[in-house]
Amino acid sequence: MSATALAPEPLTAFPPSTRRFDVGIVGGGAVGLATAMALAEQRRLSVLVVEAESTLARHQTGNNSGVIHSGLYYKPGSLKAKLCTEGRELMYRFCAEHSIPHERCGKVVVALDADEVGRLGVLLERGRANGLKDLRVLPIEAVREFEPHVAGVAGVFVEETGIVSYRHVTRAFAKVVRAHGGEVHTAAKLLGVRRTDDAIVLNTSRGDAECRTLVNCGGLQSDRVAQLCGVRPGVRIVPFRGEYYQLKPHAQKLVRNLIYPVPNPAFPFLGVHFTRMAEGGVEAGPNAVLALARHGYSWRDVNWRDLAGTLGYGGFWRMAAKFWRTGFGEMHRSISKVAFHKALARLMPDLQIDDLEPGGAGVRAQAMEPSGALVDDFRIVRGPRMIHVLNAPSPAATASISIGRHVANLV
Ligand SMILES: Cc1cc2nc3c(=O)[nH]c(=O)nc-3n(C[C@H](O)[C@H](O)[C@H](O)COP(=O)(O)OP(=O)(O)OC[C@H]3O[C@@H](n4cnc5c(N)ncnc54)[C@H](O)[C@@H]3O)c2cc1C
Repeated sequence: MSATALAPEPLTAFPPSTRRFDVGIVGGGAVGLATAMALAEQRRLSVLVVEAESTLARHQTGNNSGVIHSGLYYKPGSLKAKLCTEGRELMYRFCAEHSIPHERCGKVVVALDADEVGRLGVLLERGRANGLKDLRVLPIEAVREFEPHVAGVAGVFVEETGIVSYRHVTRAFAKVVRAHGGEVHTAAKLLGVRRTDDAIVLNTSRGDAECRTLVNCGGLQSDRVAQLCGVRPGVRIVPFRGEYYQLKPHAQKLVRNLIYPVPNPAFPFLGVHFTRMAEGGVEAGPNAVLALARHGYSWRDVNWRDLAGTLGYGGFWRMAAKFWRTGFGEMHRSISKVAFHKALARLMPDLQIDDLEPGGAGVRAQAMEPSGALVDDFRIVRGPRMIHVLNAPSPAATASISIGRHVANLV
């Protein structure tokens, strides 16, 4: 998560309502702009991107861990597995071609006991099925050659993992879109949608524009954008905040690159890790707590409409009834630095509580079924002249270029 925001985009003149685009894209995050790039650069279509905020990548894309994920975790054959492994290599190539600072530094996953060594084996099978190279369980002494300060009994080194700033990547996507005649407008929030015989009229906070096809990449608002378009999303976005600490400068030497725990199969997105950031510094986290607003970056941010939307959703209570114990554990880590430090020190006993200072936070847009099940795979649904990206959690930043190409094929 990046603590500083980039400067607002210059306010562009909004297109007149008579101008019609082939495709209108809602959302200026990595997924929206990668989609616009695929349509403008590869398909030569005229595209318009409308972003509600005054900067691009203001939400998930600009507040994430900045990891280029390898594809180790995802169920073989899933969209996540396919688009992450393809997208990872496309991301490395894009960063090299556009001189975006990035590193293919690799990461270690550390098993703390025999049970976790067993789960590591399952993980390696997935990784191999997803095409990762040279995966094998290493004795802890070998893992410590990569990361000298880790605890544990065994681990694995994943060479395909890397780091980058997705805010910079997204800005570069926008540059490509504009270079191919596309328009990217910030401070242009989609308020409503009207259909004519042969077009879709986007009513935005900066005026109207027409397009033949609409693509919804609204992230934390994607279910609401679908509803504005007259589509029932069938899922609800439930916002989960991930909070970070960062290592004070004197302690950053404890971490060379990236250190991850073996994920719990029931909650693959839980488990704090250490991440060296492409823009400098080392982050530790994130946890996962219910955000009281879709843009709720701290406990102080409460949006009653958002909160009522979550608490009024049957699926939320069905999930909470099952996983309340885990939820309380995460909340405890949110309010207690001692508990957060304890979770981190399991991976790295040399880490002292005073080595940590508060970092930032990001909010995950997690689609939830009415049954309470969290949608695991990317979910992209088609309607008449519309495509809605309704679930694009991690590793969607890594996979953004391949998600964009996938959506462009659907268009
Ligand atoms: C804490 C955290 C850590 C993560 N770590 C990683 C990681 O290391 N690697 C990785 O690959 N992925 C990671 N992810 C996931 C990744 O960040 C997201 O999957 C990805 O950024 C999703 O991109 P997006 O474009 O769909 O969403 P967003 O970046 O949220 O963009 C959606 C955009 O739509 C705009 N919008 C919404 N409604 C409207 C409207 N009505 N009109 C106009 N615009 C609208 C929003 O303002 C927003 O800018 C992480 C996520 C979080 C939260």
